[in-house]
Amino acid sequence: MGVNAAHEPRTETPLTAPGEIVHTGAAEFPGLDSWRELPLKQQPDWRDHPDFSSACAELSSNPPLVFAGEVDKLKRRLALVANGEAFLLQGGDCAETFEDVTADKISAKVKTLLQMAVVLTYGASLPVVKMGRMAGQYAKPRSSDMETRGDVTLPSFRGEIVNGFDFTPETRIPDPKRMVQAYHKSAATLNLIRAFTEGGFADLRAVQQWNKGFMENPAHARYEQIAGEIDRAVRFMSACGVEFESLKRTEFYAAHEALLLDYERALTRIDSRTGQPYVTSGHFVWIGERTRDLDGAHVDYLSRVRNPLGVKLGPSTTPSTVLELIEKLDPEREPGRLTFIVRMGTANVREKLPALVEAVRDSGAKVVWVTDPMHGNTITAKNGYKTRRFDDVMDEVRGFFEVHQAAGTYPGGLHVEMTGDDVAECLGGSDVIDESAFDTRYESLVDPRLNHKQSLELAFLVAEQLTRVT
Ligand code: PEP
Ligand code: MN
Repeated sequence: MGVNAAHEPRTETPLTAPGEIVHTGAAEFPGLDSWRELPLKQQPDWRDHPDFSSACAELSSNPPLVFAGEVDKLKRRLALVANGEAFLLQGGDCAETFEDVTADKISAKVKTLLQMAVVLTYGASLPVVKMGRMAGQYAKPRSSDMETRGDVTLPSFRGEIVNGFDFTPETRIPDPKRMVQAYHKSAATLNLIRAFTEGGFADLRAVQQWNKGFMENPAHARYEQIAGEIDRAVRFMSACGVEFESLKRTEFYAAHEALLLDYERALTRIDSRTGQPYVTSGHFVWIGERTRDLDGAHVDYLSRVRNPLGVKLGPSTTPSTVLELIEKLDPEREPGRLTFIVRMGTANVREKLPALVEAVRDSGAKVVWVTDPMHGNTITAKNGYKTRRFDDVMDEVRGFFEVHQAAGTYPGGLHVEMTGDDVAECLGGSDVIDESAFDTRYESLVDPRLNHKQSLELAFLVAEQLTRVT
């Protein structure tokens, strides 16, 4: 700075455009650090690591991954879902990995989600809000802090944003620099998603063409009628001269579990338009089943940011907890703010969900109800791998729809762990996967995912359910 710097003209004009987020340094806002005094679960013990402060500082000064204007737009879309005027599809890996941030893997996932969305759009005759468990789904809750193999005990794998999967001290010791790496991997993922979904890859006619590939397999013959109807609808629109330009692009949102609060805090920014804090690590974030304690750090932190939020609800959830969650996370009853992601398991959903849905309905609160038919249906295969039966997954979806029909409420969405690849991790489906395929095609480091065909088959089955309620 020159000696005359003090005399240089200063401008008071804000440097940010409307809807942009101020992105210099950690966001300052009353209450954003209250979570630090509260019970905090599922975090690595790394505050004393020599790289902890510099990693947080670097994240704090990096540009946001998403913008407040986009986040608000998503909230408006979710308000439509809450109102029964749209359907939400959320899908992606249980845990993303750095190695899988490749064009092929990302495009296969986006492609599968777009294919599912077309089928669901037809089934619901409503717009489908598309959201990936992508570009930030790197942190995992674990049932114990440590893992023991033989006589060696090391920290559990908590997702690649914290440590590595290999069972060696070097990889298992939590490393805060991984948060910076996860940020860059998320940026690269989001960049490709934006390019795909805004650059013509989402053209309805192309997506319909991919779905025809699925129909060529005789195992999927039972979906022929609905597939034929979608095809006729697309050809009809074409014949009418529908402007396909608008169908070449689609909105696609990024979501992840907001588990690692050091990362979320460092990526929180203040929106220049409203002066309000937003988590900018993704558009939508959710609180997991294991960290949704009413007086815990996660609920407190997320109550203070303006993003649309999800909360997972397992079979032990009581109606009073659900009402208190609404009070804490959506005190203004803002449409689209709160989504409950139900993961009860097929054995529980018909018995346990009605009381929750009725309590929310009777309170007058408007939330989005989504079914996650994966996490309550995990079993252990003979070889010790985690797996899920396709039939259980489908039956939980059916139960979820039945409960909403009985309560006169709207079943607003589907949340699945899936991939676009031909893996063998979940059992069953029309093109049957059995345990013998696990030896060569089981890739997940954490929970088992539906493969490409199973995902599409689920979409067809859910579309059948939707035609009955919409
Ligand atoms: C998950 O979504 O991968 C997860 C851990 O879910 P839940 O919090 O429902 O167990
Ligand atoms: Mn999972």
